[in-house]
Amino acid sequence: MRKKIVAGNWKMNNTLEEGIVLAGQINDLVEKTELNGVDVVIGTPFIHLTEVNKLVGDKIGVAAQNCADEVSGAYTGEVSAAMIKSTGSKYVILGHSERREYYGETSEKLVKKVALSLQNGLTPIFCFGEVLEERQSEKHFDVVKSQIAEGLFHLSPEDFGKIVLAYEPVWAIGTGVTASSAQAQEMHAFIRKTLVAKYGQEVADNTSILYGGSCKPSNAKELFENADVDGGLIGGASLNAEDFMGIITAF
Ligand code: PEP
Repeated sequence: MRKKIVAGNWKMNNTLEEGIVLAGQINDLVEKTELNGVDVVIGTPFIHLTEVNKLVGDKIGVAAQNCADEVSGAYTGEVSAAMIKSTGSKYVILGHSERREYYGETSEKLVKKVALSLQNGLTPIFCFGEVLEERQSEKHFDVVKSQIAEGLFHLSPEDFGKIVLAYEPVWAIGTGVTASSAQAQEMHAFIRKTLVAKYGQEVADNTSILYGGSCKPSNAKELFENADVDGGLIGGASLNAEDFMGIITAF
């Protein structure tokens, strides 16, 4: 059966020293908490990966927030999937709306990043979601379906089974406006139905679909109670250890 996952995305926050303190606080809380089968992930900036991996115990997986779309070579400033793997990290967040919007992350690039992540044994947390105008004009289902199909539907069922999906309506990211529990469930059920049509019931049932967008301790329980919401991708609230734990324990 699919996994329950709560993944933090620190984005471009925390110096190395600050990141070590925060990861230590999260690790201490996680170590003394019954997680009820929830997998905990921390997505840090690249420079934190090695140290955070050394610091955390087995109950926490570490994620990068991006990877290069090339294997290696003359790509100044880029970090490859193999490099991320060599830090001990297990996950990589791909296709976040901030990367799509500010850094030209196209579906074409994502196809290459997904392939390189899988080749290197990293689990992609593949993000997608509509902007406000797309929801207001009722195009949100089509947009979400296209983003998933363009980025992932070339994969074999076996490889697709290694992907974690994260539905993140862009209008809810960092805005304090959360999708309602009903809106989240409606979209997650649509996504699962789309997966059934493409890969069949078993693959669809085994795929974790996370919700992201202003998820906090106060609304996490209501979101996670939905049948098709398998956890969260958490931005702002993952920068405080107690808030992050409040979300992890909302399951
Ligand atoms: C995110 O950026 O993935 C996110 C969900 O951010 P926030 O929780 O701050 O809305």
